[in-house]
Amino acid sequence: MLREINLAEVSDGKLYCSNDMAKLGCDDCRGCSACCRQMGTSILLDPWDIYFLCRGLNTSFEKLLTYAVELQMADYVILPNLKMTEEEEVCAFLDQEGRCSIHDFRPGFCRMFPLGRVYENENFHYFLQVHECRKELKTKVKISKWLGIPNTRRYEEFVRQWHGFLKKAGEILVSFADQETRKNISMYILKTFYLAPYDPERDFYEQFGERMKQAEKYFF
Ligand code: SF4
Ligand code: SF4
Repeated sequence: MLREINLAEVSDGKLYCSNDMAKLGCDDCRGCSACCRQMGTSILLDPWDIYFLCRGLNTSFEKLLTYAVELQMADYVILPNLKMTEEEEVCAFLDQEGRCSIHDFRPGFCRMFPLGRVYENENFHYFLQVHECRKELKTKVKISKWLGIPNTRRYEEFVRQWHGFLKKAGEILVSFADQETRKNISMYILKTFYLAPYDPERDFYEQFGERMKQAEKYFF
C-alpha cells in the first residue's frame, strides 16, 4: 500500500540497505507480542507471503481466508492482509504463549518490523520506525539477518517488481471511471497472483515471473 510518511517524525533519519546494521535486536521479543495484536489491516500480504504460508501450512489461499486472512481494497487493488480476531484483535497465528506459531514462514512485514520500506525511483530502502518497538535496549543487527530470508538479493528484486507493478496497476485503475472495469481488473490481479495455487515443489520466483509476464501482457 502506498502511503505518505514523514520520515523525520517516525525514523532515526537514516535510510538503510540490507547489508547495513541497525538497532533492531529486541531480545527475541521475549515477553512481548505487541506487533501481533491490534494491527488492524496493516499487515499486507504479497504473493511471496502467500506462497510460503500455503506451503508451510499445507493449505490454500481460500482456506486461509476462512480464519487468518482477509481482503481489503488498497489503492484500487484488492489485496490480502493478516486478519486480527474479532474478540481479542490478535493474529490467528499467535499461540497461547504469545509466540508466533509460524515463525519459519511468517510474512515479510512481520520479518521487517520495526523497519519499514520507503520507495523511490523503482528502488527502496529500509527505515527504522523508532516509536514502534516496545523494547528499550536494542542491539545492532545486520538487516539481512534480521529478515532471515534466503537469497535476500532475489527477494528484494521481487519486492521492487511487485511494488512497481502495484503502482502501475493502481494508476491504470484510477484512469477507469466505471466501477465494473475496475472490479474486473482488481479481480484479475487477485486471481493471478493469489488465488491461482502456487506449486509448493517449484521455486516461488520462477512462478511469480511467469504470472508477471501474463499480467504485463494483460495490462501494458
Ligand atoms: S504471523 Fe506471526 S509474527 Fe506475524 S502477526 Fe501473526 S503471530 Fe505475529
Ligand atoms: S514491539 Fe518489539 S519486542 Fe514487542 S513484539 Fe514487536 S518487535 Fe518484538
